[in-house]
Amino acid sequence: MDRFYFDHNATTPVSAEVLDVVIQALRDDYGNASSIHHYGQRAKQVLERSRRQVADLLGCEPREIVFVSGGTEADNLAIFGIARRAPERRRHVITTAIEHPAVLNACAQLEREGVEITYLRVDMSGVVDPDDVRSALRPYTVLISVMHANNELGTIQPLEEIARIAKEAGVVMHSDGVQAVGGISVNVRMLGVDLYSMSGHKIYAPKGVGALYVREGTDLLPLLFGGRHERGLRPGTENVPAFAGLGAAADWLRRNLTTYVAAVQRLRDGMEQGILARVPQAFVNGSSARRLPNTSNVRFEGIEGEAAVIALDLMGFAVSSGAACSSGAVEPSHVLTAIGLSPAQARSSVRFSLGRSNTQQQVDALVGAVEKTVARLRALSPVYPDNA
Ligand code: PLP
Repeated sequence: MDRFYFDHNATTPVSAEVLDVVIQALRDDYGNASSIHHYGQRAKQVLERSRRQVADLLGCEPREIVFVSGGTEADNLAIFGIARRAPERRRHVITTAIEHPAVLNACAQLEREGVEITYLRVDMSGVVDPDDVRSALRPYTVLISVMHANNELGTIQPLEEIARIAKEAGVVMHSDGVQAVGGISVNVRMLGVDLYSMSGHKIYAPKGVGALYVREGTDLLPLLFGGRHERGLRPGTENVPAFAGLGAAADWLRRNLTTYVAAVQRLRDGMEQGILARVPQAFVNGSSARRLPNTSNVRFEGIEGEAAVIALDLMGFAVSSGAACSSGAVEPSHVLTAIGLSPAQARSSVRFSLGRSNTQQQVDALVGAVEKTVARLRALSPVYPDNA
């Protein structure tokens, strides 16, 4: 059976050009990047080339890039790094109800440490109103953390406007850009953020690597204590081959993003139109907002999304319901309930996320499989209106 992958927001395969770079670095550049001899300097060169490639993609200086173990660590370093550094008397952080658990659970921990947190609501497309950010500000707000693009809906936030509000108020602005990088063009200077998280495995680099942009002059407390690696912000001998892969992935994106986006958006739009034309009572969640070009979150009235995921998997199609990290849990997605869906509606949603290897043929096959699957599940459903 042919298998087709439509779950690129969960993770991406390592691309051929990244794999070459990683293998070469694994084989040849095994020195410790802190050593002063030839081997160390070679590894250091690879590391610094990658840092430049990531900086070029994000539009900042290489010295503003801190290499970490992925999106989760980048988010944690930003959030704890600012909140724990602030004077302890009264601290307040503003974030949103639709963040990834890497942000939400870091904020929950801060609450246990006595920090006040405001979780902003979003509209029915998953967009934060910048006026709500302004109203939530307190004299002792130390951080605003608003994700750039949502992993489940693909919704893109008005980040420039929110960052402007943060700047006017003298509050540090962080954004989780894990899903945005690779889907839209990102320039941290133009966005006006102080901290910006990205992850390797969403952009065809290996898992377990990522980066945090730290605007020059932003004072962070590290999460780990050890050597002087990464300017003391992230001690530990660097995983040079994996970071080499991150650099290669960033370089590919810088050169090819526009072409890739045009192609994937055409496929995604065609897929959505196909599904909506062939499946009655199907709705695209978050459709009225500006969205990532590869993401489509569709609600099929009267079915369980998890059942559709399993049925489609048996037919060779990998998709997801809710966030990958919470699949298997029975709770409806916190993102979908935050946009106003009932728990049952949230559970009836399926996320399709396309990527570089998907073709029109695969999309056509997927649309056919979705039509069949939804019809079959609805025929079995005791709650679907037509069966009543
Ligand atoms: N933030 C967002 C928006 C994500 O989608 C993810 C991963 O799903 C993360 C953070 C966590 O990144 P990582 O898996 O690299 O820790």
